[in-house]
Amino acid sequence: MDAIFPELSTYNRGMGGYSLKGVLNVGWVDIHAVYPQGTVPSPFLSKLSEIMQLPTGAPFDPFMETIRELPHCEACGDIRYLRGDEFVRSNSELWIPTAELIYASPLIMVHHITDHGYCPPAEYIEAVLALELDQRFDSYVVYKEKLFESGWYDLVPT
Ligand SMILES: [Zn+2]
Repeated sequence: MDAIFPELSTYNRGMGGYSLKGVLNVGWVDIHAVYPQGTVPSPFLSKLSEIMQLPTGAPFDPFMETIRELPHCEACGDIRYLRGDEFVRSNSELWIPTAELIYASPLIMVHHITDHGYCPPAEYIEAVLALELDQRFDSYVVYKEKLFESGWYDLVPT
């Protein structure tokens, strides 16, 4: 099972005591446990669906650290999302930027919202609704910058 992080806590997944400033966890829930549930606005669902269909090479790339596996739901198994170019979307994190910060989620969160009634924090819904999908955003580049800032590389012997 994926690690579970409290909503809106600072991102420190796999970072051994370090954390990424300005990056907040959203949607790292255990669907077999108690998690926030509720109805989300339909424009939010449409926007998420639009994001999930972005083709590779789109200027807006929130799919952080893509890996060669499918997003996996603990209840339903592997989930197949078709991208706009009709390829199946690989698993990754989903990094949603605002002017001030970034929300980091497991990609399976989208399925947890649509199929298991998970309701993310209100500020997250607002952030997604406010997103302009034609902006240039490379989540992996931002991640590497944040990782460098965090001091994590100090662990690495030179
Ligand atoms: Zn499921």
